[in-house]
Amino acid sequence: MPELVFPLDSRKRFSEQDLVGHNRWHPDVPAQVHVRPDSSFRVHCREWFDGAIHNDDNADDIRDAPLSTVHVLSGPIAVDGAHPGDLLVVDILDVGPIPGEDSGPLAGQGWGYTGIFATQNGGGFLTEQFPDAYKVIWDFRGQVATSRHVPGVSFTGIVHPGLMGTAPSHDLLARWNQREGALIATDPDRVPPLALPPLPQDALLGTLSGDAFEQAAAEAARTAPPRENGGNQDIKNLTRGSRVFYPVFVEGANLSMGDLHFSQGDGEITFCGAIEMGGFMDLHVDVIPGGMTTYGVGENAVFMPGTTDPQFSQWLAFSGTSVTLDGEQRYLDSHLSYQRACLHAIDYLTKFGYTPEQAYMILGAAPIEGRLSGVVDIPNSCSTVYLPTAIFDIDVRPSAQGPEQIDPGQGVPRSSF
Ligand code: ZN
Repeated sequence: MPELVFPLDSRKRFSEQDLVGHNRWHPDVPAQVHVRPDSSFRVHCREWFDGAIHNDDNADDIRDAPLSTVHVLSGPIAVDGAHPGDLLVVDILDVGPIPGEDSGPLAGQGWGYTGIFATQNGGGFLTEQFPDAYKVIWDFRGQVATSRHVPGVSFTGIVHPGLMGTAPSHDLLARWNQREGALIATDPDRVPPLALPPLPQDALLGTLSGDAFEQAAAEAARTAPPRENGGNQDIKNLTRGSRVFYPVFVEGANLSMGDLHFSQGDGEITFCGAIEMGGFMDLHVDVIPGGMTTYGVGENAVFMPGTTDPQFSQWLAFSGTSVTLDGEQRYLDSHLSYQRACLHAIDYLTKFGYTPEQAYMILGAAPIEGRLSGVVDIPNSCSTVYLPTAIFDIDVRPSAQGPEQIDPGQGVPRSSF
């Protein structure tokens, strides 16, 4: 096992650990760990809500999810000799649930969760159709996930970090705040919001304190969106064996990570849509001096995905175009066409006995593939969502016999109002 450089004690909250991480992006968050180029090390990660979501049959915790506290990130980890303009090469040697325990109170200890956020608190990709809060608990046995809330489905997890990235420079942070603030200003009262401005409440900035903390907390960037530094990209293929090249914006690069997922469908469409868990990552880092200019990688990270995806030989795919449910034509709107493809798949699965919420959860959590199949055929973009047929206990292909029915069981727990 590589040296554990960022340990977490499962009995303590994230803010009470020996090494305290952070939940905002800011260049002044001090590095908690220093490593050398060409070194390997282990990091523990807490699930993104730091234990606020419980293994039970009630979604009130999702309804009340403390969004101001996310994401709790392990780091920053400074790499000696990494300078602005370099590329940081990060190999994901291994990633998995919390090691050494198979049951316990924290997500990652043998279980994880997927949520549908209420429109009033977070929302999601299909929030118009699913405005209330729901939760599904998934149990892990080895590599396989099953759920008492979604019968008839099991699949091998593609374990990955939802979030990993380097620290922004002051200049880059200012650009983020400028452009996201301008977007928010176009409709400041929108629910859910267009973007999340800096929020000092519940900000955690490592060992920063006093005036330095106050100043940084007022301008530090929220962790929800992916940006030039990588960040919350939620790429399900960023699994074991992946190599990522991150732009370096500050001395030491200051790498941080968290938001581990046991599995996720492309798009993480319920927003809390992966199987969320805590766990560990084994990483190897190295530096390509001047790599940002050499390779023209300044606008975002590039990566080579791992080669350990589950093997599926058959898919059932659904397509959607950029026409609203009310029949309004939009111009090459791929967000809309992917929504239509997903709604199409959800409708289809209800014919087999699933509730709409169960079907939505399957699309968020199972290793489904989403694709931009056509983006030039005016006025309709064509998006597709591919469901691996092997994740279902029943045959979900269309046939003359009609759809076999599953027993939906207790269904998906929803929140009270
Ligand atoms: Zn996540």
